[in-house]
Amino acid sequence: MRTKIFIDFDGTLFDTERMKNDLNQPLIDAGMSPELVQEEYEIWKKAKGHPDPEAMLESLIIKYPDFNFNGAMKKTREVVEGAKKYLFEDVTSFLEKIDRKRFEPILFTLGFEHWQSQKIEKCNISHYFADVLYPIGDKVDSLRELVGIGERFIVLDDSQEFIDAVTAEFSERAEIVQMNRYPVPKEDQEGSEEETKPLKEIKQITSLSEFKDFSLPEHTDYSMAIQ
Ligand SMILES: [Mg+2]
Repeated sequence: MRTKIFIDFDGTLFDTERMKNDLNQPLIDAGMSPELVQEEYEIWKKAKGHPDPEAMLESLIIKYPDFNFNGAMKKTREVVEGAKKYLFEDVTSFLEKIDRKRFEPILFTLGFEHWQSQKIEKCNISHYFADVLYPIGDKVDSLRELVGIGERFIVLDDSQEFIDAVTAEFSERAEIVQMNRYPVPKEDQEGSEEETKPLKEIKQITSLSEFKDFSLPEHTDYSMAIQ
């Protein structure tokens, strides 16, 4: 049986922060404050359930007639259409190198399928995966259903919450790799060693080229994931 590798999308393969900034920019250029943009984004998300930058902009144009939204729709469309540029540089070569005879890469992205699938489609990476899954709600709940009893697997994700939950439940049989694309400067880190001591040492990486460089427990084939 092949070893499943559950790979996250936002913040792991995709520079979501940079895309978000670029989507906010036309609204800021129109005269909205960053705080107001954030507020409207939250209102939209609550009401509609998923992001839709173009539809949101249409509603903002009506709601705020005093701002100058000239050109904003064109810029927003360009960002959405050009989503591929937010794929981190190391992604394609990493995905190409996964040995599919032994490993089963699964794109495992939390969120709103409507919006996520648009981004993923533009990035043209689906064919590298055995499956593309959009779990709703708790990612760990979905993971529990996707792996068999005692099955070993690998997780690559940037979310601290998810990493902690996977560690708590699956540390015996999962290789857990945390991606840190946006490293926090040391002086900004909170909490002491004692408070945050993990159950198991989690492998930390800042780029996909580091994925293969760990010394691994003998019972896994993990070191062979990348040829
Ligand atoms: Mg993520």
